[in-house]
Amino acid sequence: MIIVMKTKAKEEQVEGVIKKIQELGYRPHVSRGVERVIIGAVGDERHRTRLQALDSMPGVDSVIPILKPYKLASRDFKAENTLVPIDDGPVVGGKQFVVMAGPCSVESMDQLRETARAVKEAGASVLRGGAFKPRTSPYSFQGLEKEGLEMLAEVRKETGLPVVTEIMTIGDLDLVCQYADILQIGARNVQNYPLLRKVGTTRKPVLLKRGMMVTVEELLMAAEYILMGGNQNVILCERGIRTFETATRNTLDISAIPVIKEKSHLPVLADPSHSCGYWQYVHALSLAALAAGADGLLVEVHSRPQEALCDGGQSLKPEKFHRLMDALRNLAPAVGRDLSPQVRGSNARAIA
Ligand code: PEP
Ligand code: MN
Repeated sequence: MIIVMKTKAKEEQVEGVIKKIQELGYRPHVSRGVERVIIGAVGDERHRTRLQALDSMPGVDSVIPILKPYKLASRDFKAENTLVPIDDGPVVGGKQFVVMAGPCSVESMDQLRETARAVKEAGASVLRGGAFKPRTSPYSFQGLEKEGLEMLAEVRKETGLPVVTEIMTIGDLDLVCQYADILQIGARNVQNYPLLRKVGTTRKPVLLKRGMMVTVEELLMAAEYILMGGNQNVILCERGIRTFETATRNTLDISAIPVIKEKSHLPVLADPSHSCGYWQYVHALSLAALAAGADGLLVEVHSRPQEALCDGGQSLKPEKFHRLMDALRNLAPAVGRDLSPQVRGSNARAIA
């Protein structure tokens, strides 16, 4: 259920409704919009009619059931776009088109440093790099784990770029939280519900990637697990799905971007690298994602892709990444976006 307060509802009336929701055994989630306050009451669906009585409380405009299987992630609950601020970095979900770039995996200090410097110079605002790698084969390079996280921290210090890195298991949460500015949950863990609940207890931004066989609705339900814990800082990522097409590694579901934007207030990135699996197509898919309304990109870049231990074939060389950033910068104004970092204050006004 969502409880929509009147436009001029007083703070004590909002507090009264929150208290009543708790008394009825539900968890209140408050969304303070420009116009009015909306309170989501989340809990056991079977007794939701009890909440209907709230419509006679002072300050309440209406009580509306959300019939979708996700609630806090839906536009019904929050009409305005969610903005996710990254520590020492950009705000995701506002006017700025946020590019996160770097190697698939952290391999060595030289590789990470060279790549990070190159993506920063080209205009990326977040550094990506995996230390815990979810590899399909157990014999493939599995990542440098803690040592990789330490390298990310060192390069973060040198370049000032905040870091997004993957977390695979609950047991690593405290460790990864010490180093990551954004916790990445990969395609293979998008329905690992205990892990989603656990990251929901933190307040770290979470980059939640769509699974290769996960529908948009299932992705939004996965996000709901994180939001339920009180962590509002969720960024979704379309990274390609499995189709009958074998010319590319996956198929970028470009339509998922406007669909998610309509159904949810959460920001959406696109990952053109894992979507296609070949560096040759990354440029075109990136421009398409920007034009389709994505809030940014997650792109694989490697200083020497031919030597990469993982995903070299889909990684851009620095000069190609530079060219991509120039092209994105040219296209952005045509679709109401900007690649240059926005001032936090002006970003607070979400784009429609
Ligand atoms: C990644 O971004 O490093 C990754 C493993 O991607 P995905 O989870 O989308 O396969
Ligand atoms: Mn990769």
